[in-house]
Amino acid sequence: MYAVQELLSTMFLERKRRIPMTEGRFQPTLGGAIVFKWWRSDTAQWIDGKEIRDHVPRWNDEAGDDEWYELSHEDPQLGQADPWLIARTSAEYQPLREHEALVWEFASLPFERDAYTVFAKRFGPLTRKDAGRLPDRLSFWVQEHSYLRYAVSLYQAIENRTTDDLESLGIRTAPAPGDASRTELVASAALVPDPPLARFLEDVSAEFGPETARLLNDRIASEAAYALIEADASTRRIVQMALATIITGSLAHHSVDPLLDPDVSPLGMGLTMSFRVSDLIGAMWLQLALAAAGNKTFRSCPVCGTWWNASGARSHKTVCSNKCRAKQAYERRKAAKEEAAESDESS
Ligand SMILES: [Zn+2]
Repeated sequence: MYAVQELLSTMFLERKRRIPMTEGRFQPTLGGAIVFKWWRSDTAQWIDGKEIRDHVPRWNDEAGDDEWYELSHEDPQLGQADPWLIARTSAEYQPLREHEALVWEFASLPFERDAYTVFAKRFGPLTRKDAGRLPDRLSFWVQEHSYLRYAVSLYQAIENRTTDDLESLGIRTAPAPGDASRTELVASAALVPDPPLARFLEDVSAEFGPETARLLNDRIASEAAYALIEADASTRRIVQMALATIITGSLAHHSVDPLLDPDVSPLGMGLTMSFRVSDLIGAMWLQLALAAAGNKTFRSCPVCGTWWNASGARSHKTVCSNKCRAKQAYERRKAAKEEAAESDESS
């Protein structure tokens, strides 16, 4: 008996004595653990290209025109068709912690300037606007929106097991030149007909001319992913490869970098693998990456429209919360009652 106790206490001491590199492992959702602060922008609004000089903070009013290099060289052809988002900072918040489905919210927006304004008021601009740096342009929003929306469509195809028709997913494959063991794939939103985007471009064309619409379309089409994969890969694997290539490229493009963070764990001890995020668009790509790696499922609530994390939820659960479930039940009872009343009258 004593021996057992002794053994147990030795084991306990052994365990206590071992000091791990990382204590108190904290891995709820990784996204929730990443420290990334951003600002909502109650006053967000789009202004015409020519007004920008009145709105961008300058280092020095006496400075020469060199300072405006970026301004004068960035897509001058788009001109007035490419307004700037003036977004002053209001309440600070933590996007990855407070809005788990933000990337789904963004991807499901319509291609409308007003919808972007509402989003910017709630969640802020896509990139940082420090002094001397230019704010977001509308073409940038359309481009990122279209690309994220495309990535989310691939995500959903993988989730729903509807990956058979690669062409309809904007993916083209061909034998890799000079390597029979490989297939090359190109994935692009521009290869999929997107009626809402087409309508948006028609509006741009009507207001600013066909040349401007074409330039905008070229910018969107320039976001394409290229990868090599084994020649006998299944369509599901090809779509996964396309999605992975798009997300990996976007994380690099938006400066999302890995880092070891001593502050992430709740006990403030140890080092945890985390990510450095510098703007909202990077945060949304990271959210998509973490969702893909974590096999997460998000659904849109039929009652309030909010996207919610449905990972692990029963398949018949469709609404986001008990509040929405109650509302849905009430609406159904009401509809049933009205129907019953109607059939009483008619009989
Ligand atoms: Zn809801």
